[in-house]
Amino acid sequence: MKTYDWIVIGAGITGAALAYELVKVGFSVLLLEQDTTLQNATRYSYGGLAFWSATTPLMRQLCDEGIARHRILSTELDAETEYRELDLLLTIATDTDPEVAAAFYANCAIPPKLLSVDEALEMEPLLNKQAIAGALTVTHGHINPEKTAQAYIEAFLRAGGEMEITQVQNFTSNHSSQTIKTTTETYHSANIVVCAGGLSRQLLKASGISIKLYFTHAEMIQTPPVEMQLRTLIMPANLQRFQLEAESSKVDELWNEPGNELLAPILDAGAIQFLDGSIRLGQISRVLSNPYVDIDRKTSESWLRRSIGEILPALSNLPGTWHHCLVAFSSDRLPLIGSIPGCQGVYLFSGFSNPLAIVPPLAQRFANYLTGKEDKIISLFSPVRFQSPM
Ligand SMILES: Cc1cc2nc3c(=O)[nH]c(=O)nc-3n(C[C@H](O)[C@H](O)[C@H](O)COP(=O)(O)OP(=O)(O)OC[C@H]3O[C@@H](n4cnc5c(N)ncnc54)[C@H](O)[C@@H]3O)c2cc1C
Repeated sequence: MKTYDWIVIGAGITGAALAYELVKVGFSVLLLEQDTTLQNATRYSYGGLAFWSATTPLMRQLCDEGIARHRILSTELDAETEYRELDLLLTIATDTDPEVAAAFYANCAIPPKLLSVDEALEMEPLLNKQAIAGALTVTHGHINPEKTAQAYIEAFLRAGGEMEITQVQNFTSNHSSQTIKTTTETYHSANIVVCAGGLSRQLLKASGISIKLYFTHAEMIQTPPVEMQLRTLIMPANLQRFQLEAESSKVDELWNEPGNELLAPILDAGAIQFLDGSIRLGQISRVLSNPYVDIDRKTSESWLRRSIGEILPALSNLPGTWHHCLVAFSSDRLPLIGSIPGCQGVYLFSGFSNPLAIVPPLAQRFANYLTGKEDKIISLFSPVRFQSPM
């Protein structure tokens, strides 16, 4: 019976990056993923890296480390992550005062620049002039998130890591040894780290652990490569997703009620063209306590196309396929990284709602921390902060 130092559950960007960093510092690691063809948040993400958006010294430091790491990641992992820097346009709705929209971002490390409607159209001719009161622009990082996760996995395997495609049903913790039951086999390790994205809460619950970690149901449309050229990454200046996350995570108990819709769904109309010419159009976010609920894709797709069409009319009728996934988040927008209180050997690396910029440095820091090195930043993200008082 082989006992690993670490079993990492979930091979999205968080699990892939962490598995690689754990092997790099010398641990024996098994990475478990349930899907052969990934259907996860990493697969359907826009891939944006909002380095500019940090508003605290902590986030500034992580964003600086993140950009430095993303710039060399393709070389280190010996595979393309498609890292580039491009113009982000944050569209301002016609019912919003552009100065108020700009003020909202004034504390960012690099505050976006306010553009008139004509200036915004010059940057992105596909925008509908009638639908905006202006826009904000800033240089944004971009990667292909699926290729980045794959690059991490391949580098992890080359460095001696092992991976199995199997679904973890639950795990039991017995001080120095963890037993992980999957649909095909039982595995043993000294430690487990849960990187199961939006399914982390359910997996932990199935293992008898309750944790304040949540998820949105996200929906988007992916087009095949198209000839049309989007010059910028477009998102609304007033992103409703973050408000939805904050509001819906105020009362944890509501997430334990089956079939609960905690708030009405929201739609943040955005679009990004990848280097292969395909476009992602998004994004609807729903807060439903059941992660496996069926969503009416036809109604969702027409809502998405209608809303995108208001901002970018030429994009509304592009061929494309509707997709759905879960995106994990915490109630303070910061990830949960570290040991789960009262469960020796069980760790979390999840709950990042907009993680792509900061996952690489945090995975590296966390792996070093797990070798016994002190790291004040990692300690700040400990799940202990959400532990209910006894
Ligand atoms: C449309 C959209 C646009 C986005 N845009 C951005 C953006 O521009 N910038 C940004 O930073 N973020 C963005 N995000 C968010 C970001 O993509 C996600 O937060 C991130 O990819 C999540 O990574 P993850 O590893 O936590 O989860 P996931 O990618 O969901 O991976 C979790 C993995 O765990 C596996 N798993 C779950 N349960 C089990 C189990 N029991 N056994 C085995 N395996 C299991 C799943 O199959 C999955 O592969 C966006 C998300 C969406 C949907």
